[in-house]
Amino acid sequence: MNPILVTADRLWDGTGAPTRLRPVVRVADELISAVDTSLLAPAACGGERFDFPGCTILPGLIDTHVHLVMSALDTNEAIIAQVTGENEAQLLSRIEANARSALLAGLTTIRDCGGTRNHVQQVRDRIRRGDIVGPDVLACGSPITTTRGHCHWLGLTADTFQEVEHAAERMLAQDADFLKVMATGGNMTASSDPMKAQYDAATLCRIADIGRAAEKHSAAHVLSRSALPAVVAARYRTIEHCDWRVEEYRYEFDPELAKRIVDQNQFVGLTMSGLARRAFLPQVRAFDIGPVKRLDARFACERRMIDFGIRYTIHSDAGVRLCPIDRFALGLRAAQVELKLTPAEILRAVTATAAEAIGLPDRGVINPGKRADLIIVEGDPLHDLTCLEKMRAVMKAGRWVVPPR
Ligand SMILES: [Zn+2]
Repeated sequence: MNPILVTADRLWDGTGAPTRLRPVVRVADELISAVDTSLLAPAACGGERFDFPGCTILPGLIDTHVHLVMSALDTNEAIIAQVTGENEAQLLSRIEANARSALLAGLTTIRDCGGTRNHVQQVRDRIRRGDIVGPDVLACGSPITTTRGHCHWLGLTADTFQEVEHAAERMLAQDADFLKVMATGGNMTASSDPMKAQYDAATLCRIADIGRAAEKHSAAHVLSRSALPAVVAARYRTIEHCDWRVEEYRYEFDPELAKRIVDQNQFVGLTMSGLARRAFLPQVRAFDIGPVKRLDARFACERRMIDFGIRYTIHSDAGVRLCPIDRFALGLRAAQVELKLTPAEILRAVTATAAEAIGLPDRGVINPGKRADLIIVEGDPLHDLTCLEKMRAVMKAGRWVVPPR
């Protein structure tokens, strides 16, 4: 393939360096070959050139927690009825459609944290082969959960230590990229209790160990403090949601535990899903449910984690209610309002940090030798995150997957 040159007004490379002006990014095959800030003489510019005046070049965005099989309907009941009622062809076609939509939001990599059977793996592989267009996908298959536990309706239930071992091994045999466990109950599943741990410490540890033995990372869903010490002790790579709730409306941050998270280089995934987007979704404020009523306390605790130095990604949990996969930027704007983060901090969380958290060191920053995953947006998102909603082009591994407009 001929080299490609991409120019714009600005470049933000994800490394933490300040924005550079008048950048030229050179792409050869799948990789970034050079990043310059002075235009070469036309004769030296072999290859095809794409100019984006008024725009900013950024690393492709990474959403570390989505559910491609879910459709972001208005209620949990409707989502569950759809996922459990549809046939394989219908499920696969929604997974494909959501994957395609993710690209339009600038997501070049997504990690799917729970689907039906091996459907997400099938779509992942079709994208890899080039049969269909979509972001790179990491899939866990289905999350491991208890009978009637959180997301039991996705189909992978295991109660005893041995059943859990089998479940983890089954996911690896189905070519999962990582393991996901529901360490506590969750809001979506009425028969589960978010305040209670679903597994004991030894069982949680065994899942992470099985993952490590297969050179895969593991992710744990944690909606209360009940399971947090065991998840930290088991050294799960990512702690999804990482709620420090000890009572329905009370959060209790523990610096000792937080220090261990930092020391072990674990990452927390902060969830800016539909409900957390209250600043932009007026209908959420009218919801008379616990997860909405405790948002202030939740955000205060998340801010403490950030101030403490815990490394974090920001994810959408896309597919859950009111949270379509193509509105990723809205969750980032919510993080700016609710967690008092700067656009640069937020963008870092969904590029360089996200890549590191999910074990993909080949991406997340724009540097020579890294994979050419680029997005080009109108304006300057370092000053205004709404610029992420004006996507001009998306490149994945050196190819335009959303062609320049
Ligand atoms: Zn989720």
